[in-house]
Amino acid sequence: MTGTTDWAARAAAFRPATTLFVDGAERAAADGATFPTISPRDGAVVAEVAHAGRADVDLAVGAARRVFEEGTWSRAAPAVRKRVLLRFAELVRRDAEHLALAETLDVGKPIRESMNVDVATCADVLAWYGEAIDKRYDAIAPTGPGSLATITREPLGVVAAVVPWNYPLILTSWKIGPALAAGNSVILKPAEQSPLSALHLARLGAEAGLPDGVLQVLSGDGPGTGAALGLHDVVDKVAFTGSVGTGRAFQRYAGESNGKAVAVEAGGKSAQLVLADAPDLDAVADAVCWGIFYNAGQTCHAGSRLIVDRHVHEALLDRVLTRAKEFVVGDPLDPDTVLGAVVDGTQLARIEGYVDLARSEGAVLATGGGRPQPVPGGTYTEPTVLDGVDPASRVAQEEIFGPVLSVMVCDGPAHGVELANETRFGLAASVWTSDLTVAHRTAAALRAGTVWVNTYDAASVTTPFGGFGDSGGGRDRSLQALDAYSAPKTTWFAL
Ligand code: NAD
Repeated sequence: MTGTTDWAARAAAFRPATTLFVDGAERAAADGATFPTISPRDGAVVAEVAHAGRADVDLAVGAARRVFEEGTWSRAAPAVRKRVLLRFAELVRRDAEHLALAETLDVGKPIRESMNVDVATCADVLAWYGEAIDKRYDAIAPTGPGSLATITREPLGVVAAVVPWNYPLILTSWKIGPALAAGNSVILKPAEQSPLSALHLARLGAEAGLPDGVLQVLSGDGPGTGAALGLHDVVDKVAFTGSVGTGRAFQRYAGESNGKAVAVEAGGKSAQLVLADAPDLDAVADAVCWGIFYNAGQTCHAGSRLIVDRHVHEALLDRVLTRAKEFVVGDPLDPDTVLGAVVDGTQLARIEGYVDLARSEGAVLATGGGRPQPVPGGTYTEPTVLDGVDPASRVAQEEIFGPVLSVMVCDGPAHGVELANETRFGLAASVWTSDLTVAHRTAAALRAGTVWVNTYDAASVTTPFGGFGDSGGGRDRSLQALDAYSAPKTTWFAL
């Protein structure tokens, strides 16, 4: 749904919020620092945005703690929190075009995805957690007749949500939805590449009725703003999504400060395992391509490894190559575009570096590798398929975070599972087969937080999302995420 909007005209007139949102007010950084947010669509500066420093972090954490202690949100009746979150979701829908534009200009994703997927999911997730909060019951422990022990869930306090740039609104909603619903005060730190939707979201939260200090947004960098939050003694939890190395840094920050809880969701090298009896190779090729090319491959659970049984390798590869060529790179503001820009020049260089490396490691460049230019000055790369990839090589093992599919062959289900599990990551995997028993056995044997059978990337707020190993142990979505932002409390009554 992108309607009849003239997106280029809207982009030309776009005036985003650029100040921090602290304690219910718009603020410049205490030291006046700013940074430019640059659009990968055309390389132009979209806006100069406030850069939060240590003083701003202290101010925000202080406000977050104060309002938490006051209890206007943390101890508000669940029905009250629900009403505010439902209103918040409605305001996201009201401002869908503004938020979608912020997202597309910041990170270069196609406007129709920003509208139909990112903004829509953000609103739905906020509403889902709002709806959930007054339908959960606490418990009474079976301690026997001489006592009554209640187990209630308490919010944690001040939660810092630190998110990356690939799905700014979706990942933000996965954190702030359950954290706010549970009664916490939240400080959101968006990635430096994508601050604009977050800064607008803060204003919508206030308009919806969140008390001052309950949702604050600090735009800024990682080593400055992010680290100050991670090291802060008054922050109770960090909910992090991003790279493996930064996740480890947050765990170190916690150890060096107050031992705060840290939930990490990091990258992946997810396998799409296609067995010899896979049903309908056209459908498989379609899912394989969407699994790796969606969002220009900048997806933590991108299906970046195609492990295909030798018997169907050629037939599937033919179809994948045909389908890949249909993912034409275009202007992110064109509502027909399905493949937009990659987030910046650093990411583009990284992707191209991996394609060069693959060739030097002996892989065959079956399609792609080029640098199209639908909008001058932007950062774009073609959908790329590498065949004959050695499972032990770097392109088969390291996260590229671009539209690059590494194809390797296996001999039967057991060998396929062995190759699929040969990774430090464990975020997602798929298996394609017509045999129900093989499907069950293979799904159980794949070490991944999500396994799809005969599909890829099916998702719902009702199911947990997260991984094993280097993908991090945190889980977003579902009622389990609500539990992750609260702690059980026992109250023992002697009778
Ligand atoms: P990143 O780790 O560089 O940045 C993520 C966030 O951490 C940003 O807000 C950044 O400012 C902050 N940060 C960076 N360095 C920091 C430091 N030293 N101290 C404190 N904060 C710091 O990640 P990225 O490159 O922006 O994002 C891509 C990564 O995110 C990929 O590896 C991808 O797989 C992963 N990812 C994972 C999931 C998931 O749910 N598992 C979802 C999306 C993305």
